[in-house]
Parts: sequence; C-alpha cells; structure tokens
Amino acid sequence: MFADLHLHTRHSDGTYTPVELVDAAQRVGLSTIAVTDHDTMDGCPAVCAEAERRGLGFVPGTEITTELDGRELHILAYFVDVGHPELSVELAKAQAVRQQRIRDMVARLNSKNVPLQVEDVFRIANCNAPGRPHVARALVERGYCANLDEAFDRYLKKDRPGWVPKRKMSVERALSLIHAAGGVAVMAHPGLNHDDTMVGRLARMDLDGLECFHPRHSPSASMRYEAMARQLGLLVTGGSDCHGTSKNRPTIGTVRLGIEHVDRLKERRFAVGVQQTASSIRTVSV
Ligand code: AMP
Ligand code: FE
Ligand code: FE
Ligand code: ZN
Repeated sequence: MFADLHLHTRHSDGTYTPVELVDAAQRVGLSTIAVTDHDTMDGCPAVCAEAERRGLGFVPGTEITTELDGRELHILAYFVDVGHPELSVELAKAQAVRQQRIRDMVARLNSKNVPLQVEDVFRIANCNAPGRPHVARALVERGYCANLDEAFDRYLKKDRPGWVPKRKMSVERALSLIHAAGGVAVMAHPGLNHDDTMVGRLARMDLDGLECFHPRHSPSASMRYEAMARQLGLLVTGGSDCHGTSKNRPTIGTVRLGIEHVDRLKERRFAVGVQQTASSIRTVSV
C-alpha cells in the first residue's frame, strides 16, 4: 500500500486530465494519491469522484507558491476544505496574479521581437492557474524554440528576456490559511531550496510536515530530511511531483510513500480541530 502525494493535472501545469491521472496511478500500483496543482484546487472534485469510483484513496491538496525573505518556497496543503471561503479567495487572487504574469511575460517577449500571442498561451493553458510551462509550450508550438528546455533556457528562466517576477503569498499567511481551512501544511521539496535552515524556521512557525521523498532528492538527502523531520517533530511525506508527459516520461509512482504516513497526516488534520464545512469534499478511506 503506497501513496504518491505530489501530483499535477491540467488544472495547473501538468498534462493529465483527472481521469488520466487516476488511470496512471492505478497502472503503477498506487493505493492513494493527492492532487497538488499550483495555487488551485480546481482538479480535486473530479479526481476525487474518479478515485472513489475506482477504489483509489484520495487526498485533496494544492501546492501554494509562497515566499520567505524574498525566496520562493512551495507549501503543500493537504486535507484543506476545498470550499473554505478565505482560502478560496486567496487562491483566486494567486490565479489572477498568474494570469497577469502571463500577459506581462508575453509583452516582454514581444518587446524582444518574439511575436508570441497571449491567446496562444491561454489556449494551451486552458486553466485558471497558468505558468511558465504554458508559455514554454506556446513558444515550441509556434516554432520559436525547439523544445521546452530551450524555451526556459533562452527566455523564461530568472533574468532571461521573458522573465517576470511573481508576487507571492508570505509563508506565514499560507500556514495560517491552511490551518484555518482545516488542513495540514508541508514544505515541498526542501532540497530544491538549497538552504536547510529554512526547515527549522518553518517548523517554529507551525509547519506540520516535510516532503522528505522527491525525485530530485538523492537517497542521502532523503535520509537527512527524514532525520530532520524526526528531530523537529514534523510529519514525513513524499511524492513524485509528476507533471504528466510535459517533461519526458511521467514520474508518477517513482516515489512511493508508506501508507502509514498518510494515516499520520489524517490524524494531524483532526488534531487541528477545525470543523470542516458542508462543502468539504469527502476523502476516501484507505
Ligand atoms: P511558474 O510557477 O510559472 O514560475 O513555473 C514554474 C514551473 O515551471 C515549475 O513548477 C516547473 O513545473 C516548471 N519548470 C521550471 N523550470 C523548468 C525547466 N527548465 N524545464 C521545464 N519546466 C520547468
Ligand atoms: Fe509545476
Ligand atoms: Fe514545487
Ligand atoms: Zn509540484
């Protein structure tokens, strides 16, 4: 019994539809999945329904883009109430920021003689939480770049011609929102931040868990984060961060988390003691 707690769908920058995601999860033998699209929970109801129909465990989630001291930090929110008013408003704001950033990026590219059209990006994205990968796909589709890596390297990485900084929620705000919405807050892929001191700081702010297992963590990094989690009293999570087929082969199921960790997340969620509202979607028992 294994879980993959970090998965993207077409509702952000993944390529799987909710049904394709559940299909893929069952194909690789997972028993529980979480959906963690960037700054949106739009995919949760459809994945929940399909998972329930096919007997797969489901955890509602989202990956919130936040910042600490000007540095980007991704916080995974699990078991949050999808209909929580304050969280919904904040996610809608983050989505509006993402949409405006697409317009700003396209304007910058246009000023550098890359005549990309914003409609092309929005058509490809076809979701409320578009991001740089959608701009990259549009650049490839229009023939301005040979592939996604070239699009990022030439235009979209930090300080390249199409780069626009993103306004982000403070991490303190994200943690309090997640707890107000009855959820559990986990720091995503700490290894990608290259600064382990952040983990201790977040733990003191009332972070609940640490994503110890991620495809970009080496085995020794995973062990280091597990030890850190134990020392700081944080829950242990892991997931493949699969974006479907957008980046080479789908990674779903390449990180397999023991199901006991999902049980601990669930227990922590009830320990938070927040009443879920009627709009809260059901989670399938595993
Ligand atoms: P954004 O949230 O708009 O800043 O876009 C960040 C997303 O872009 C990440 O979640 C990754 O999925 C993706 N990404 C970042 N760097 C690359 C890259 N070099 N090639 C392909 N995708 C990337
Ligand atoms: Fe992504
Ligand atoms: Fe991330
Ligand atoms: Zn992710």
